[in-house]
Amino acid sequence: MKRWIGAFLFLGLIAVSSNGQPGGTTSEQTVAIRCGRLLDVKNGVMVDHQTVLIDGERITRVGRTQEVHIPAGVRVIDLGEATLLPGFIDTHVHLFLHPGPQDIQTLRETVAKRTIMAVRNAEADLMAGFTSERDLGTEGAEAADVDLRNAIANKEIPGPRLQVSTQAISVEGGHEDFFGYNPAVNMIPNAMMVEGIEGLRKAIRFQIKEGADFVKIYATGADQVVSPENYRTVPQFTLEEMQAAVSEAARIGKKVAVHATGGEGARVSAEAGVYSIEHGYYLDDRTLLLMKQKGIYLVPTFTVTEWNVAHATGPAALARGKIVLQLRHKHFESALAVGVKIAMGSDVGPFPHGTQAEEFSWMVKYGMTPLAAIQAGTINAAALMEWLDQVGSIEAGKLADLVAVADNPLQNIDTLKRTLFVMKGGVVVKNLIPATNP
Ligand SMILES: [Zn+2]
Repeated sequence: MKRWIGAFLFLGLIAVSSNGQPGGTTSEQTVAIRCGRLLDVKNGVMVDHQTVLIDGERITRVGRTQEVHIPAGVRVIDLGEATLLPGFIDTHVHLFLHPGPQDIQTLRETVAKRTIMAVRNAEADLMAGFTSERDLGTEGAEAADVDLRNAIANKEIPGPRLQVSTQAISVEGGHEDFFGYNPAVNMIPNAMMVEGIEGLRKAIRFQIKEGADFVKIYATGADQVVSPENYRTVPQFTLEEMQAAVSEAARIGKKVAVHATGGEGARVSAEAGVYSIEHGYYLDDRTLLLMKQKGIYLVPTFTVTEWNVAHATGPAALARGKIVLQLRHKHFESALAVGVKIAMGSDVGPFPHGTQAEEFSWMVKYGMTPLAAIQAGTINAAALMEWLDQVGSIEAGKLADLVAVADNPLQNIDTLKRTLFVMKGGVVVKNLIPATNP
């Protein structure tokens, strides 16, 4: 009982500290934001000296500063020469994970403890500029992500707008069964372990009943990487099983996202018509062409791979990691050549929350233009989440989810790692440009 009282006090403190208003309540006042540059991600152009008018939580007008009339009494936030962008959208996060050995988190930390950390992680991501996120599984914290999503939506705690998948689905002995769960022992597995079509159907129905916005399935298992010529990804489900999963989710109006690095597991996922392939390290041309044809998104998650290699323990893990990076570069070049749709996703959780704007820099290092990388983390990500009418660009009618950075990110992509200003739904949650404000 004491633990719970402590948790509630703690949540209250966070909510007050983030934006000065308990519960992060929406300001109903009209605000005008002036900026030196504004990135129009829809048309792919940087425009100078713009003013954005906001009424309550929505944008009402965007135009040249000289042409936008600011009514008397409206609060003006002058961002000086800073660049204004739409709020960032990370389509692959794990709010219930933190850096460190995963067995300790999933087997030894209580769901309550992990939920408290998830609350802090959500705030860290928001402060970094991420105003919307898709969570790809709690990894042993049951469906606590549903309550996290709802608490943020109800303005009880600060954080990004969320879509969640609860526990995710794996196969017995597969990707998420790496601890070798023993059902006789009372422990929560990293994902629901299912067998066959009926098992998949039952798990999907259960997770959606619990509040999942979409279904996450592990379609490939542990990769066996020996050399750049000798590597293999282990498929987890048959084509018939994946088709059944996609149709069962569709029956309830939901979509399926798959963890798939490559090989047959990725191909059957694309054939079955999932809506996103996560990671996709080694996608072959056949799968890439299927993705292009069907409009399936690739969510590349470069940061987590680079983090794992940078933190590899021992020479064997480092050598293997370097081969994975080499293969990633090669296959991502093919993905760009084929022209598949790409949405930004970092897989943050195994590396610290609030640092994942690094993904923009990696996307550029892997061959995307700065503009394409930013579009992947704004307008494309909003399209993937089917929230394009609400977020993803700075346009009249959309929610006022905005970020400002010092430099021009088309010339210096790293500037996105240091947000100076963050607004979510018309409420300023961070402003490090005080000198320019009244
Ligand atoms: Zn993940």
